[in-house]
Amino acid sequence: MLEASRQWRVAGRSIGLVPTMGALHAGHMRLVEMARAENDVVVVSIFVNPIQFGPNEDLGRYPRDLKRDDELLAKAGVDAIFVPEVRAMYPPESSTRVHVGGVSEPLEGSARPGHFEGVATVVTKLFAAVEPDRAYFGQKDAQQVAVVRRLALDLDLGVEIRVVPTVREADGLALSSRNVYLGTAEREAATILSKALREGAAAYAAGERDPDRLRVLLLARLGSEPLVEVEYAEVVDPATFRKPGSLAVMAVRIGKTRLIDNHDLALPFLG
Ligand code: AMP
Repeated sequence: MLEASRQWRVAGRSIGLVPTMGALHAGHMRLVEMARAENDVVVVSIFVNPIQFGPNEDLGRYPRDLKRDDELLAKAGVDAIFVPEVRAMYPPESSTRVHVGGVSEPLEGSARPGHFEGVATVVTKLFAAVEPDRAYFGQKDAQQVAVVRRLALDLDLGVEIRVVPTVREADGLALSSRNVYLGTAEREAATILSKALREGAAAYAAGERDPDRLRVLLLARLGSEPLVEVEYAEVVDPATFRKPGSLAVMAVRIGKTRLIDNHDLALPFLG
């Protein structure tokens, strides 16, 4: 991959990288569109990164459909698809992990120990393999965005981090490769996340600024759905993921499926 990138670079072409785990949906394709608009060359990586999954998570059953992904990306005019092998990324003798302090610790970080170390390590390796000018991440994974921004700054990676707004279904559910796990009743119950965020934004617009009261409101709304088990809901600063702030972040379980969502309550909820 690096050789192709260097040739593009020598030819004076800017490179945009879209890192994904495949099972592509319209959210991923929005990242691709933005990368297309801002760069001469677009590279999409597809890699289900084993080290960002915990031992009891869904690595084994994570949806994979490389043929369909290839077709979608070809249609979207992507220049290269980078699909590294697990053993090439993590040969048995490899032992380095990238740890981003601070922002990687609360919320998703404490719910999924080791997750952001896996993310930071793979992002560092993908940046080294592609040497992009810009890399595209979804607001859907807000804490990942904050971790990757910190990583790029702290290690002087020289990659501009670009963030794409969350793409949602008509009923507000944020698109996610994991939505395929949801049964019919669970899929219906999953709309509670966007409903809670919409309500939070309305309360914020009506003048509520107390993060604890906003949190209670979000928890009450999420808790009103019997199929939903709330993991956390908080209103935090989008760069540090500590209070105070206006970014509402939440994680729930619906049956065996874990879903996250977020919204900056200072903005109207359009989903
Ligand atoms: P994933 O394949 O789930 O690792 O996601 C790859 C990238 O797509 C990440 O930067 C995600 O934040 C982003 N992404 C996933 N779902 C959405 C969505 N609904 N809207 C916008 N970006 C998304």
